[in-house]
Amino acid sequence: MLPPHSLLPTGMLLRSLLVAGITSHPMLLAPGLATLKFLSKPRGPLFNVERNPLLHSIVKNVLYNHFCAGENGSEVKATIQNIKNMGFRGVILTYAKEGPGKSDEKDQDDPESRQADPEIEAWHQGVLQTVQMIGDGDFLALKLTGAGAAVTTALSHGKPLPTQMESALVDLCDEAIRRRVNIFLDAEQQHVQPGIDKVALDLMRRYNRGNVAVVFNTYQAYLKSTSVTLLDHLHCAKQEDFMIGIKLVRGAYMSTEPRHLIHDTKAETDASYDLIAENLIQGQSTAWKQDESFTSPRLQLFLATHNRASTLKAQELQQSRTNAGLPRIQVQYGQLLGMADEVSFTLLQRNKQDIHNQGFVTGEVYKCLTWGTIGDCIFYLLRRANENKDAVSRTLAEYQALRREVVRRIKSVFSF
Ligand SMILES: Cc1cc2nc3c(=O)[nH]c(=O)nc-3n(C[C@H](O)[C@H](O)[C@H](O)COP(=O)(O)OP(=O)(O)OC[C@H]3O[C@@H](n4cnc5c(N)ncnc54)[C@H](O)[C@@H]3O)c2cc1C
Repeated sequence: MLPPHSLLPTGMLLRSLLVAGITSHPMLLAPGLATLKFLSKPRGPLFNVERNPLLHSIVKNVLYNHFCAGENGSEVKATIQNIKNMGFRGVILTYAKEGPGKSDEKDQDDPESRQADPEIEAWHQGVLQTVQMIGDGDFLALKLTGAGAAVTTALSHGKPLPTQMESALVDLCDEAIRRRVNIFLDAEQQHVQPGIDKVALDLMRRYNRGNVAVVFNTYQAYLKSTSVTLLDHLHCAKQEDFMIGIKLVRGAYMSTEPRHLIHDTKAETDASYDLIAENLIQGQSTAWKQDESFTSPRLQLFLATHNRASTLKAQELQQSRTNAGLPRIQVQYGQLLGMADEVSFTLLQRNKQDIHNQGFVTGEVYKCLTWGTIGDCIFYLLRRANENKDAVSRTLAEYQALRREVVRRIKSVFSF
């Protein structure tokens, strides 16, 4: 069988090789990161990526196009089409522009705060534009704190969201349903997460009444508390008879969260992720059997991870349940654009085999895309570069696989 990277178009393959070449070598990555950090601060016209055309073109062609979807509707739609042409079921789209998030607290009892909040309005319009770029089966990812200080304050104090935000969410969900798009509520830091969980449960109660989950909440396996939180939400879905949409991640806020909330080692986070995924796929878990009253509600699972072992474990478990004729839940997989292509393409290749052998796939695969101007996306790019730095062995393996694929294509040209 051809290697997984054979699915990459040649232009993308060469750009991926360049980016992986830089990010897998500490001596190249360190100056690259320093340059990105330098460009992320407000600068005069010469070092401003939005105003210096040469700089704009370099950053856009090398880095931005590798990790981001586009600066406007037509670029984003072209990227989505490319992704779907490679065999992905769809995309998860998110708008890069981030609100101030943790900025000054706003008092909702202050009459001035009750007027239309420009931060919520800007967020609402940006997200509305985003959902209008996607369609059937795609996902819209929402980061609630992106809606600004009033929303962040409400989430962190366990207060109801501002009415304007509640209306914006209903408007976005209605538009998503019209377009047959599903919604992820992203998980964030612990000071706002209980508030996000509450919003997610309310939206799931309202929108997940049918046979598909329109709204998904995100659960972070690195937290020691996640099994208990999830079990609580599963009970709630069972009792109130709604479909629970679960997006499972490891968690992205290790550097800022109180350390004691997070599993002590990476191995423990890995085990937690795999056990939660296994429990959900099996329906009736060993760990959750301690809770005698547990029976699984209707659920859909989305495994958002770059981890090859976790992904393949879940995929193989699904396959073995299929072979044994056991009931299966819907499991989908997602990786970020420009990252872990080897994992994405391995899943796509297995899907092709599934179609051939059994006529359906055991798990659809998605790419997660961020869109916005280069200025909007610069912090996102910095985070991706840092993430590659933290996953040196995986980045190096990706680089070696890309290099092998380039050599294979060159040899295949000369063999004719
Ligand atoms: C499509 C998609 C959507 C995502 N959405 C969200 C989201 O809404 N919210 C969110 O928080 N994250 C989100 N993430 C990021 C995710 O949480 C991880 O940070 C990232 O994917 C890396 O983890 P991994 O599972 O890919 O695997 P790996 O690279 O194998 O794992 C890295 C992760 O392991 C954990 N870890 C690392 N070292 C330790 C340690 N010493 N002790 C304990 N744990 C450790 C951390 O969570 C770290 O991020 C998303 C990722 C994807 C692909």
